[in-house]
Amino acid sequence: MLDKKQEVIEYAKKLNTENLSPLRSGNISIRGVNEEIDGFFITPSGIKYDDLTTDSIVFLELNENNNIKKISDKVINPSSEWRFHQDIYIEKRDAHAIVHAHSANAAAVSAHGKNIPAFHYMVALAGGNNIKCAEYATFGTKELSQNIIKALDGRKACLMSNHGQVAFGKSLSEAFELAGEIENICHQYINTIKLGQPKILSDEEMKKILDKTKDYKKN
Ligand code: 13P
Ligand code: ZN
Repeated sequence: MLDKKQEVIEYAKKLNTENLSPLRSGNISIRGVNEEIDGFFITPSGIKYDDLTTDSIVFLELNENNNIKKISDKVINPSSEWRFHQDIYIEKRDAHAIVHAHSANAAAVSAHGKNIPAFHYMVALAGGNNIKCAEYATFGTKELSQNIIKALDGRKACLMSNHGQVAFGKSLSEAFELAGEIENICHQYINTIKLGQPKILSDEEMKKILDKTKDYKKN
């Protein structure tokens, strides 16, 4: 349990130091078991990453009714975005960790509320032939969570309109790396559209890429 809390802190600090989500923006969680209860460890709400201690990491029970169920009586509140973390863990069995970031380029692209087309074959990293953008809803709401689940259909990452991005993986290191890749792709996309309309790869080509990238990463 302590290991998982420490892992959350390690990556939460990296969000800030690696400039993926500065100060106290974004949030991170990891699936886990606490007192034989299935749930997830999540960063607290509104606390600077630099100030985190294991006591500030909150454990929530996975709750299909989408209620919040804190397994401790501590006064620390979980991230305001616990709903979408919970819904992703319920919806995606292969999600073991989630990273939500207000990374600069993803936030900029997200403000246009459009999916990123296959201007580069690496969009396949998100799981399909584009990177979808979840419709806007107020942070911390069930509506935002529903919009994210829709945009994650067949995907491991998506943009969130006028907000940022979310990525999940089999581990925190995988989710964190994917969030970094999404940020790079958004940076490239901003440069690309400055030059005019890019050539978009066909669905047929993207299918080839998706087949090829399945076994690309060995560790
Ligand atoms: P929390 O500090 O509540 O996690 O909020 C940060 C955030 O990114 C909201 O979308
Ligand atoms: Zn956010």
